[in-house]
Amino acid sequence: MTEASPPSAAMASFGQLGLPANLLAMLAEVGYETPSPIQAMCIPRLLSGRDLLGEAQTGTGKTAAFALPILARLDLASTRPQALVLTPTRELAIQVSEAFTKYAHHLQNFHVLPIYGGQSMVVQLRQLARGAQVIVGTPGRIMDHLKRGSLKLDALTTLVLDEGDEMLRMGFIEDVEWILEHTPSTRQTALFSATIPPVIRSVAQRHLREPEEVRIRTATTTVEKIRQRYWLVRGVDKLDALTRILDAEEKLDAVIVFVRTKIGTEELADKLAARGYAAAALNGDMTQGLRERVIEQLKNGSLDIVIATDVAARGIDVPRVSHVINYDIPYDTEAYVHRIGRTGRAGREGVAILFVAPRERRMLKSIEHATRQPIEPIALPSREDVSSLRISQFKQKVLDTLADPDMELGFFMNVVEEIVEENDLSSRELAAALAYLVQVGRPLQIEEDEGRGWEQATALHPRGKALREEIFTTGAARSTRKIARETITAKVPAGGKMQRYRIAVGRDNGVTPKEIVGAIANEGGIEGRFIGQIDLFDEFSTVELPAQLPASLLSALARIMVCNRPLNVRPLGDNEALSAHRPRRAANTTGSFHDDKPYKADKFYKASTKPWEKQLQEKRPGRERATRDAGSRPPRKNAERRPFKGKNRPG
Ligand code: AMP
Repeated sequence: MTEASPPSAAMASFGQLGLPANLLAMLAEVGYETPSPIQAMCIPRLLSGRDLLGEAQTGTGKTAAFALPILARLDLASTRPQALVLTPTRELAIQVSEAFTKYAHHLQNFHVLPIYGGQSMVVQLRQLARGAQVIVGTPGRIMDHLKRGSLKLDALTTLVLDEGDEMLRMGFIEDVEWILEHTPSTRQTALFSATIPPVIRSVAQRHLREPEEVRIRTATTTVEKIRQRYWLVRGVDKLDALTRILDAEEKLDAVIVFVRTKIGTEELADKLAARGYAAAALNGDMTQGLRERVIEQLKNGSLDIVIATDVAARGIDVPRVSHVINYDIPYDTEAYVHRIGRTGRAGREGVAILFVAPRERRMLKSIEHATRQPIEPIALPSREDVSSLRISQFKQKVLDTLADPDMELGFFMNVVEEIVEENDLSSRELAAALAYLVQVGRPLQIEEDEGRGWEQATALHPRGKALREEIFTTGAARSTRKIARETITAKVPAGGKMQRYRIAVGRDNGVTPKEIVGAIANEGGIEGRFIGQIDLFDEFSTVELPAQLPASLLSALARIMVCNRPLNVRPLGDNEALSAHRPRRAANTTGSFHDDKPYKADKFYKASTKPWEKQLQEKRPGRERATRDAGSRPPRKNAERRPFKGKNRPG
């Protein structure tokens, strides 16, 4: 019997496990940083051809533990089935074959076939006739095909029984044994089961040859100062749940959010930053210097949230970490204890929140057992709860500002009075406009799609995300992003195609995306909804606008002054080497600077649905002055809700 050691010891690298280069490359791309304990234990053993009895449940990474050695040893020149994985359910069969497809990304001529009951026999017969090196199926249907002769397993070298105890519970054990008896006795066999009841052990004794037993050790540990809670992932997506918790949790100071992959850290950091949180990624792809900087920022409060992998967060000792959120469940109880130990430091109290998918409930039980503490379920705060919380925080902030003796408000009072008088406004109207402006990044009224701005911004253009990646990613980070790229639904505005333009002000001039949008919208008269992604570089910036803007409009745009410089807008040449001028973020870190995010003008300007050409035609001479005068006007959410009216109001 071999027991997997605690994460610290088991955190070997994939490179040490004997896997071939093409699989190592794929693992780097999918962002797996280190093998999970069960992987570290099983992969070398399975590669050596030994039989194996693994006590491992869902969530421990057991699929890769058997799939990687199988893939490493396949003969891809032949399409005869060489590996068979039996699973208790069709869902698991599909999941396992998807995992094979993902892991076989670099393998030419690789085919995996899921075979389960309920699927058309005709289709399955056709697929089987075509051939596949790996078959993943439920016992009943596999037995049918073996009896029919439509599945031939004489070339089989490896057989995996996944979730043995589930197969037993569902009454499949006899079918499984029948299948075992009808496969070559020379095969390698691996049996995985969350628990090893006597029946499973006797199946192992009868059908496995001197199996090596592998089990994850579950040492018990006390974690007294940490209040442990869990949320059963259901109904609300995990990101939404996370932001609600971040908003509503009491006594929340700094937070470490754990995810499984390096890519996961970057994606979540990006999404949280886009929603206005001071968040950054921490992963093994970052240099030591960068990692130290992120931790320093967490310590000194310039960052509140760090999204980390297990490896990268090892040993973090930041007393202000009040919460650890296990966004992805850990592989084992050791990792869990290690993760939550990042809070409750220096004698303080800590809170640990675990997200548990229904199929991961068994791991929850193991964790409760290992930490000898019940973990309480939590209900998520509703959108309304979060809204009212934000409103009361906002009110408090206003009152605190008024009460602060150091706050010199005299100057602002004069400005406010001027605006009121010049525009014939009530102070209520003005205050509403100012309140609107203050809450823009973090709205008081939460709408269904809050914060999706970032994803939509990159989706504005069919190549939006790819372009953004070209600009924002470097070296290793670029290769890890390749696979994670999501399918983007292109949302080209009604006006037609978008194109990238270069403007002559950049970060060195102190420009912000908001000013660029403001200038192009207010002075150029282009609705914000036709202003796409904005990327700031040191000496210039790029902005997506409708393709082929008329020359007259371009030259008008070119003359607009921002930061005391003319914009000099011109289409960005195809051959302009953008990557030679990466925005600063690419060189610095992996996602902590809000101003590096593509800017989503759409959030602020929703006034018109008319195509931009039409708007321009309709732009009357009288309006030009008015819009220019109102250069500092807050963006309008919609036509009815105009914060400014009065003598300068456009006609
Ligand atoms: P499993 O226990 O096989 O169902 O795997 C659970 C999840 O962990 C899956 O989403 C895998 O993609 C992920 N996973 C497996 N191995 C690793 C690893 N070494 N690093 C990061 N994620 C992993």
